[in-house]
Order: sequence, then structure tokens, then C-alpha cells
Amino acid sequence: MNKIIDILGEEKLFDCMGCDIGSHKMTPPGGLIYEDDLYTVSQDPEIPIVGFMILGIKRHIKSINELSRDERIKLMDVLNLTIENMKKIGLCSEVMLLEEERSSHFHMWILPILPWMDKFDKNARNIDDIINYSYEIYNDEVKEELLNTIDKLKEKFKK
Ligand SMILES: [Zn+2]
Repeated sequence: MNKIIDILGEEKLFDCMGCDIGSHKMTPPGGLIYEDDLYTVSQDPEIPIVGFMILGIKRHIKSINELSRDERIKLMDVLNLTIENMKKIGLCSEVMLLEEERSSHFHMWILPILPWMDKFDKNARNIDDIINYSYEIYNDEVKEELLNTIDKLKEKFKK
């Protein structure tokens, strides 16, 4: 069993975070934003960046190479829709995509490029600095904005 304290200060236990979110055993902060038979979209539980989305597959696979063709097509549809919705609610006008095969369960990170990231050149080379800085500026106001953003995205996905 693994354990984290999520960005809302709640203790979460899980075996595989991707599987447990996909099977509703673990609730991500603010709940699922989008769900279909294959994928979920939710806020990253550990990194307090407003609108930092995780697009996860429900099936336990490690690599994009293990996806079927249908899953690949659906992945791109969900990815596209998520980015569109992030832009439509005015969260950001650009995103950065991250995916690491060293992770045991395939997921993609969709990072909104936010104004405060200007000082890090909005560059993937500076991702550690961006993440570390997000912890420094995290407070109740940011938490509220983060939860509001989750609600706005949920609404957008319903339309
Ligand atoms: Zn898994």
C-alpha cells in the first residue's frame, strides 16, 4: 500500500494510483472531471498547480505502445477535448504535455501554462523549478481557485 497526503491535506492510500482512480477506489482532489469506459481526467493529487490535469487510462498498462488502435484514437480525442476545455474556461492559452514511461501506470500530464510560469520561461527544462515553486505559492486562495477550476472543467465537459 502506498500513501500520500494530497493537495487538500487528505491522506490517500492506494496500490496503483492509476488503477485506483480508474476504479473509483481513490478519489482525486475535487473528484473526477471526466470519465468514459477507457479514460479519466482529474486534477493531479500531489502537485498544487491550478488546472494541472492527469489523463489516465483505466487499464493497467505502462507504455503508449501497449494501447490498441482504438485506445490511441480515443486517447487523442480525450486529450484534445481536455485541452480545448482548459482553454475555453480561460485557464490558459497554452499547455505542456508530459508523459514518463518510467511510471508503472500510463498517464499523461497536461500542464496549463500560467502567467507565473513566465519567470521559468514556460520551458520543459524548468519543470522541477515550476513544480517546486507551485508548493511555495500554494495557499488557501490558490486552493479555492484550484477547486473552482475543477468545477468549471466538469461543467465544460458536460456540454
Ligand atoms: Zn495501475
